[in-house]
Amino acid sequence: MSKKSYITGFPRIGEQRELKRILESFWAQKCSFNEVENVAKELKKRHWNYQKEAGIKYISSNDFSYYDTMLDTAIMLSAMPKRFSDLANETQYFSMARGNKESVAMEMTKWFNTNYHYIVPELSLEDEYRLNSEKIINEYKEAKAQGIKTKINLIGPITFLGLSKRVDRGDTYMLHSKVLPIYESLLKEIATLDDEITVQIDEPIFVKDNDPKVLSLIKPTYDALSTISESIKIIVTTYFEHSNEATRILVNTPIWGLGLDFLYGEKNKESLARIANSDKKLIAGVVDGRNIWKNDIKRTLELLEDIAKVVPKEQLFVSSSCSLLHTPFTLKYEEKMDREIKNWLSYAVEKLDEVSLISKLFFEGEESLNNHEKVVLENNTQANKHRKTSTVIHDKNVQNKVANFNKFTRDGQYEERIKIQKEILGYRELATTTIGSFPQTPEVRKARQAFKNGLISKEDYEQQMKAYIDDCVAFQEACGLDILVHGEPERNDMVEYFGEQLQGYGFSQNGWVQSYGSRCVKPPFIYGDISRPKPMTVEWMKYAQSKTEKIMKGMLTGPVTILNWSFVRDDKPRDEVSKQIAVALSDEIDDLQNAGIQIIQVDEAAFKEGYPLREADIKTYEAWAVRDFKIAVSTAKEETQIHTHMCYSEFNDIIKTIEAMDADVISIETARSGNELLKIFKQVGYKQEVGPGVYDIHSPRVPSVEEIVQQIKLLLEVLPKEQLWINPDCGLKTRKWEEVKPSLSNMVKAVQIVRSEL
Ligand code: GLN
Ligand code: ZN
Repeated sequence: MSKKSYITGFPRIGEQRELKRILESFWAQKCSFNEVENVAKELKKRHWNYQKEAGIKYISSNDFSYYDTMLDTAIMLSAMPKRFSDLANETQYFSMARGNKESVAMEMTKWFNTNYHYIVPELSLEDEYRLNSEKIINEYKEAKAQGIKTKINLIGPITFLGLSKRVDRGDTYMLHSKVLPIYESLLKEIATLDDEITVQIDEPIFVKDNDPKVLSLIKPTYDALSTISESIKIIVTTYFEHSNEATRILVNTPIWGLGLDFLYGEKNKESLARIANSDKKLIAGVVDGRNIWKNDIKRTLELLEDIAKVVPKEQLFVSSSCSLLHTPFTLKYEEKMDREIKNWLSYAVEKLDEVSLISKLFFEGEESLNNHEKVVLENNTQANKHRKTSTVIHDKNVQNKVANFNKFTRDGQYEERIKIQKEILGYRELATTTIGSFPQTPEVRKARQAFKNGLISKEDYEQQMKAYIDDCVAFQEACGLDILVHGEPERNDMVEYFGEQLQGYGFSQNGWVQSYGSRCVKPPFIYGDISRPKPMTVEWMKYAQSKTEKIMKGMLTGPVTILNWSFVRDDKPRDEVSKQIAVALSDEIDDLQNAGIQIIQVDEAAFKEGYPLREADIKTYEAWAVRDFKIAVSTAKEETQIHTHMCYSEFNDIIKTIEAMDADVISIETARSGNELLKIFKQVGYKQEVGPGVYDIHSPRVPSVEEIVQQIKLLLEVLPKEQLWINPDCGLKTRKWEEVKPSLSNMVKAVQIVRSEL
């Protein structure tokens, strides 16, 4: 064991998603909570063991959760919304997370720029907090009984407040003086557990651009927390970016150490001198906690040596860059993966060995390695060498094509294009359409699965998909929609579907990552240069178009969304990878229009979530994200109408960027906010056409004609009828046909009523 090896946190869902299974079974009332607890116990035990066996010294407790650690923190403070206060124990806990018959669930939102979602605590100025330390104390004891003395992980008070919301929308930091004493009591209690105890306090909010007011809370908070007990060593940990403003303050508090991310927060290096001059320990996050690539150990050692030029080795520890929560579990179950590619990967369990090995090498030198470790190191060197030259990754043709690609914008100005398009396409004011997908029925899912597993023939599969498209088109015609879609039955997922057809994309069998609660996602991964061996959607679209006289809208996922919902190679800058995807898509668009598709939608659902955490980096991101959307559609002729779709409506900060994407039409999500969020489009004089969602597709409820009429009228108060399209908020794949049919019929009827009144 290396005494200096450190893991920020470990995934909890289980290598076979055991926690997911038992939770869902409990929620379906198929087992008792006692059974859930037993599975949880086993998982914690196993996870601690993995870390111990890998030789990790700093192993966490309280990184486990039945649902989410922000929710756990709210429980620790007894900070719960009134609507749940009559409930107790697990009923209360899961009601807060998931809602119940009487009460809606608490809100959920993205954890920084990851795909993990946390529960947003609801605070109120009237709140009275009370310490509930049970989970934290028990987990520590549980590990100790197993012979492991853990560090205790907590979400820090400043991050907790910063990510919470106040029911009256006021400033959550006003509750600081109520929250801090609870943390103080907690630490007092923790101090009684052992003679010496390490507490890792996560403050990832420090990586954002914080107001001076927020920064001013840091010193009093950590002065107070660090002086509770001699026996507690506090490490304040940040990740995903640099936190230099906070570091400057923290070095002047009595904390024991700082955990910093040197991969996604390279700028943390600017703080090294300051840390060296203080007596703080530095937990250096150098093994990527949110990607799947094997660490380049030689390079990491160089990085550490670099750091050690400023901060003495005695002060240093070797760590993951963040909690391994954001990476899949273990490569053990990847049986089908190409051996060569698999050898480039490293999931959470494998990363433990990396941290351990790097730590040993760095602190004790190569002489200290045993034979097994020497072999591992040699393999690592070989794998990384191989990755630099493998033809599976590096494709000269793609590189040349992308480097020489110089069509950064499509032909014709928008004002000219739209005239031509309106003329040729002949759609009416308030043209009706949908976002693309129609209900994914059990039959469709079954057919896709059966085809994938070789249980039905290609012909059989295509027949079934075509039958779905036939019905879908027939319904849309009968319903009276103006611009039709094919319904996306052949797509399991809007990114995976394209990934499967692009060269340079890989897929895992068991690469699940927790997204929220019991839900996991299995992102595909980009390992090599991206190209399109052959058209991806053209045959389907041609078929769908052949079934109707009306216009059939083609459907693609945009480059930025494909990138943001994949694990991306770490040997090339993201913007270069994105450009490769864009170039591949530009060929697809050309093929689609040549096949007679006149309108093509390029979805950018994840455009906004790709935004950097720091203001200073936004311009750069926007520049390449817009560039690549424009590259993707650069082949579109003037008369080909390009649509895009984004699944949210908060456009205030990014409206000019959206406009610069130069899509002829954008559909967005607005139904739940009336016309409020559309106003920004008017304010900035947004040129292009807009399809604000007129009903919420997240709910099974069928909106009435009258309701939609009202909604359309609200929209017309903001934008003129010539500029508006009418559509639902988002795709319909999660809905049932019984809901979709009446909803869309009502939408079309509503448009007819409004049109007749205009
Ligand atoms: N075209 C996709 C669909 O309709 C868009 C989904 C999305 O924006 N998330 O399902
Ligand atoms: Zn959407």
